[in-house]
Parts: sequence; structure tokens; C-alpha cells
Amino acid sequence: MGILRNAMNETFTSVSQEEAGFRERIRLSFDLDADICIIGAGLAGLSIALEAARLGASVAVLEGRHIGWNASGNQLGTVMPGFALPLTELIERIGFEDAIELWTLSKQGAEFVRANASEENMPDIGLTDGVLEVSNVDAGDRLISRLQMLNEDFDTEAEGWQVDRVRAALKTDRYFHGVHYPKAFQVEGRRYVHGLAALARRAGARIFEDTPVVSIDHSGIRKRIVTPSARLRAAHIVLAGNIHLGAPMRRLSETLLPVWRYAGITAPLGDRVHEIIGFKGSVMDSDGVDHFRIVDGDRLMWESPETTWAARPQRFAGSVKRRIRSIFPELGNVEISETFGGATGQTVHGMPQIGELRKGLWVASGFGRQGMNISAMSGQLIARSILSGDDRWKLFSPFELVWAGGTAGRVAGQLVGLWGRASSAAAGSLARYRERAQVKDREREARLAKANRAAGTGPRRQPSGVRPRVAPPAPRPAAPKEAEPVAEEQGVSQ
Ligand SMILES: Cc1cc2nc3c(=O)[nH]c(=O)nc-3n(C[C@H](O)[C@H](O)[C@H](O)COP(=O)(O)OP(=O)(O)OC[C@H]3O[C@@H](n4cnc5c(N)ncnc54)[C@H](O)[C@@H]3O)c2cc1C
Repeated sequence: MGILRNAMNETFTSVSQEEAGFRERIRLSFDLDADICIIGAGLAGLSIALEAARLGASVAVLEGRHIGWNASGNQLGTVMPGFALPLTELIERIGFEDAIELWTLSKQGAEFVRANASEENMPDIGLTDGVLEVSNVDAGDRLISRLQMLNEDFDTEAEGWQVDRVRAALKTDRYFHGVHYPKAFQVEGRRYVHGLAALARRAGARIFEDTPVVSIDHSGIRKRIVTPSARLRAAHIVLAGNIHLGAPMRRLSETLLPVWRYAGITAPLGDRVHEIIGFKGSVMDSDGVDHFRIVDGDRLMWESPETTWAARPQRFAGSVKRRIRSIFPELGNVEISETFGGATGQTVHGMPQIGELRKGLWVASGFGRQGMNISAMSGQLIARSILSGDDRWKLFSPFELVWAGGTAGRVAGQLVGLWGRASSAAAGSLARYRERAQVKDREREARLAKANRAAGTGPRRQPSGVRPRVAPPAPRPAAPKEAEPVAEEQGVSQ
């Protein structure tokens, strides 16, 4: 290894404003040798650079645009354990024991972020605890079995919230039950990626921006990396370019389905936003449609629409606004003062791509919407495998690189996404419809019971042990007017 340092002797002091991103960019203009060359300075590339540099390797990061250019610099900063693939499916695919191990690794990834994101390391990073996942449908039973599994088998603190509690915290009838993760947290997302870059530099990593990698030759022991104005040689290459990797490994890029996600931040909303949204951390619905939290005291940051084609985030201000209005009508017509977005890479199986493709050629991509903890985990796994022979990345081997279908895959992805959103909206509408119908039923039963009592036609006493049935309606002519059933035709509204 090149520069060897004892990681335990490193001290990481706080990252200044200048270090936190707004510094002059340095491009690679001279030939260089390193132990590890990382392609891409997003969350993945920088997490690996930080961990490898802390472990004593000489590290060069090559970034085609600038630090955090894509999703990593345009995200909400929510840090949750786990993966895009639901836990039950993960267990089905790889068995209980391995699922527990992978889940534990994902929690360690989250703890890596927490340790880096201290106020001391990254001033104004704004770390706050607690994330609430809410259900669009009435799914109490499913929720309880998931809670038990999380708490007991996966050692993850999670608390079930009944509908009343969710609705006391969030003034909307859109959501039903909730799972509160008190140890999940959020940070200021953009500040984190720049803070990570500054910590990696401090640990000795060199980061070159405006330096696209145009080709690689990974056949020899010393691998060659070509950029427009210089060459680099390294023992290891890590491909952390997400969907934009392009020429150096086009076939790898094609194993990811690009999904652009967009978000907006409202103008200040004043105190009313706290009356309507009483939960302080991030809220996300279990169908992955909405994700939001209050920022800067009284503004609402809201992530919602997605496409499989690149578009300007400004175009989506209107749909973010409409989405906010449909969930929280009491907020009225909010003004969206900022928009942002980026492309995430989704794999066909929902699990990230982490591991060694060929000797000395590594990949860390495909994190979908959970890049914060998974990129941190990939950083730990890859750096430790290269530098200390830890081979736990092999737990990801069952999830192979699968071609995402090219253009047809994007079209299918868009349709599936739209269908998924439409079907979860329909399921939500149906759940709310059922809820309203139940209330009306209870009201009607109460009225019938009252009418029956008044007319002396109440249900006969049931023998003990027999569940009472709902009393049949009294014959219309004999019943007083107030005993008329009140059921109305109700449309399923969105
Ligand atoms: C709106 C939005 C909100 C999100 N919110 C959250 C959230 O709250 N929590 C969470 O966990 N995740 C969230 N995500 C997901 C998360 O942002 C991503 O999973 C993560 O940023 C992916 O990181 P990455 O490093 O793999 O990719 P990227 O951020 O895409 O970084 C890859 C970098 O590689 C560079 N590159 C590519 N090819 C080359 C090349 N040939 N040469 C040189 N450089 C190259 C690119 O320029 C780019 O900068 C969100 C995403 C979006 C879009």
C-alpha cells in the first residue's frame, strides 16, 4: 500500500464552510499512481474514499462534474436501516440468517453516517432523530407482524402507532397506521455529501472534479484509468458512478433502471404548518410515493414525483404543490420556492450492487432511494475487503447483475411506477372509503337500535356464547321516519 497511516491516530476536526463544498475545483492534469481509484464523487464514492483513506490506503477520486452533482447532492438526508427490497422478500430470497446479517450491515451503515455527521465534524448538519413510516391503507395486522420481526429478530427499535396517534400528529385522513423508528434520523443532505468529501480529504484522499473517466483497462495488476488530460494507475478501481458511469463500463450502467426523483421546498408557512404537521422528523409513506419533513423552522420539504426520463426539476413545482394540497388540504395553496432532483439507480431485484466484479474491479451502485445508509455500508465493506480481507460483501452475491432492459426497461419502469402509484392511490382511496362506510354503518346501527327500542322491536336476546348479529332493519311502514337507512352512494375519490 502507498501511504500507510494508523486510522486510530487520525483526528477529525470540524469541516469549515470552505471545505464543505464551495471551494475551487481541482481537476486531474498530471499522471498519478494510487492504491485505489474511485470513479464518482457521490455518496458511494466518497464513503469508500473516506473509509479506505482512514484505513491507510492512497486514494484518488475522479468525478466527471462536481461533488454531489447528481442524486447525492439533491436528496433529503433521511437515514433508515434496510434496503429497497422489503424485509419479508429478503428473507425469502436468502434465508433468515443471511437476512439478519445484511440488515445488521445496513444498520452499521446508518451508524457510520451518524458518527460522521456530528456537529463537530460538520457544523450545521442538523441531525435530528425519528422517522415515521405511514401506511396509505388500513394495514394494522401486517404492521404488527412486521414490528415484532423488527424488534425481536432484527434488533431494530420500532414502535407501532395506531391510526388515532398518526392522525393526531399529521392532520390528514390519508394515513392510517404508522411505524415510528426512533433511532432513524435525518441530516441536511447536501451538506452531508460535501462534509463527507472534506473528511475524506482530511484523511488523505485526493478528489479531482471536472475529470470524467473515459475508459479503463482492468486486465493487469496495475489497472489503467484514462481521463481527457491525464492517466492514473491503481491496484483497485471502484465503479461508483451510478447511472452515469457510461463509457468505462456501459454494460454495467445498463443493469440499472434510472429513476429521476424530484422535490420542492415551500416558502415559509408560519405556525400553521406545526398545527397540521406535528411530527418533527421525516415522514414517508410505505408505498414510496411521498416523503417530507419541516425544514428551516416553517418550510415544508416534499419529495414526490418520479420519471424514468431526465427532466428539469422546476417542471415539477406544480405537482409537488398539488400533492401537498391533496394530503394536507388545510395548508391551502402553498408556494414552492425551490425545486431539486436527481437520478437514482434501481436494480431489477431491489438490492444494491456491492462487490468485486473481477480481481481489483469493484462496484458500488444501485442504492435506489436509500443511498444514505447503503452507500455508507458499501464504503465500509469495500474498503475493508481491499485493506483487511473482510469478505462480508459476498453476502450480496445472490443478487446478480441483471440487465435492466434498456429503453424498453425504462418505458416498462415508468408504467410500473405509474401503475404502482395509481394502485396505491386507489388502495388508499378504498381504505378511506371503507373507513367512512364503517362510520356510517355504526351511525346507522345506532339509529336502528334507537328506533327498535322506541318501537319495541329490538333484537331478541341471544343465548350466551352466540355472537349478537346486527339487528335487521325494521319493516319500513312500521318504522318511524328516523329509522330509514342512511347509506348514500359514495364515489371512490382520489
Ligand atoms: C430527490 C431525492 C431524494 C432522496 N432522498 C433520499 C433520502 O432522504 N435518503 C436516502 O437514503 N436516499 C435518498 N435519495 C437517494 C440517494 O440520493 C441516492 O441513492 C444516492 O445519492 C446515490 O449515490 P451514488 O454515489 O451511488 O450516485 P450519484 O449521486 O449519482 O453519484 C455518482 C457520481 O459519479 C459521477 N460519475 C459517473 N460516471 C462517471 C465517470 N465516467 N467519470 C467520472 N465521474 C463519473 C457522477 O458525475 C456523479 O457525481 C434521494 C434521491 C433523490 C433524487
